Amino acid sequence: MSRESKAEQGYFGEFGGSFVPDELKVVLDKIGSEFHTYKEDPKFLDEYRYYLKEYVGRENPLTFAKNLTDKIGGAKIYLKREDLNHTGAHKINNALGQILLAKRMGAKRIIAETGAGQHGVATATASAMVGLPCTIYMGKLDTERQALNVFRMELLGAEVVAVDKGRGRLKEAVDEAFADLVANQEDTFYLIGSAVGPYPYPEMVKFFQSIISEESKKQILEKEGKLPTAVVACTGGGSNAIGSFANYLEDKEVRLIGVEPAEAPSISEGVPAVFHGYRSMTLLDEEGNPKPTNSIAAGLDYQGVGPEHSYLNATGRGEYVTATGQEALEAFQQLSKIEGIIPALESSHAVAHAMKLATELTKDDVIIVNLSGRGDKDVNQVYEMLKK
Ligand SMILES: *Cc1c(COP(=O)(O)O)cnc(C)c1O
Repeated sequence: MSRESKAEQGYFGEFGGSFVPDELKVVLDKIGSEFHTYKEDPKFLDEYRYYLKEYVGRENPLTFAKNLTDKIGGAKIYLKREDLNHTGAHKINNALGQILLAKRMGAKRIIAETGAGQHGVATATASAMVGLPCTIYMGKLDTERQALNVFRMELLGAEVVAVDKGRGRLKEAVDEAFADLVANQEDTFYLIGSAVGPYPYPEMVKFFQSIISEESKKQILEKEGKLPTAVVACTGGGSNAIGSFANYLEDKEVRLIGVEPAEAPSISEGVPAVFHGYRSMTLLDEEGNPKPTNSIAAGLDYQGVGPEHSYLNATGRGEYVTATGQEALEAFQQLSKIEGIIPALESSHAVAHAMKLATELTKDDVIIVNLSGRGDKDVNQVYEMLKK
């Protein structure tokens, strides 16, 4: 394949691409071509499915939220239960897929970056499972704010490197991870945790998260005998959302709705820009620098968004809306009380919008909400917020 057509592969309309130094691009293109080979390899896919079943605990249920539906009195609400996965969220689907690819490529060590720590924990978990050493880069400030997640990663055998450069945040951690990859490309695999970053990550992460909608489509056809009216998912980097949408993209009658936090609305209020090596809708300040965001959900607190979401928004195939932290907090409590399910604060944004949407639809409509994770990790934070 020529250089040009390879570069084109990483685009979703005007979004995506690979805006990195040449030496890094060579390494990433190699990962891309190995990914394209293995995603067609039945042995590789069998292995991935084996671990999804035996380790992650898939398939997880598509639960009818009867109490919530009765209370709202509009569309039927179903919950896709990524919260029931091992480690409590959807991130493990992707971490596992990429780790198995890394092994096939002969990698001897795994590296990753993490902001709040959730992706670091998923990566450390999958690394422990396959027996590969793992180094997690984390901004120094973040290691201090998320001390318990640092300890969790260490328990899982990972080395956590506190990056004490710049502002000591996610951006600096990403830069360090890319530098490590370039320096150690012979034996190192960089595992990115959302549908973001330069080619091939957005496509690769989508592939490993598409299991969500592969299952939900089969399940809703069994339960309702028809496709849903809408699929709703929260959108940080966009991996749980793109995985929830993937198998419905061609079903034009199914509305695909991404819910951004109102405090970090990359698509709703951002502009096209290159950030972290890819082009997508991005929140910038007046000087054109990434604008600080302030979502109550750490996993959604990001200035960028996966390029395919920017594309789905531009073409109108996807709808992108916002929910505030306050609305998410209320949905968090409602779902806990009414259904006995404590959702992650990230997922609570999707629940909040689905509850609104249900009132606008009829009893014949069906909404699938992706419950991207469980809220155990957020209980302390919610306690502090409600005390005030
Ligand atoms: C990380 C995380 C998210 C946000 O990441 P996406 O890539 O947008 O899916 C959402 N929900 C939970 C539970 C998370 O841990």
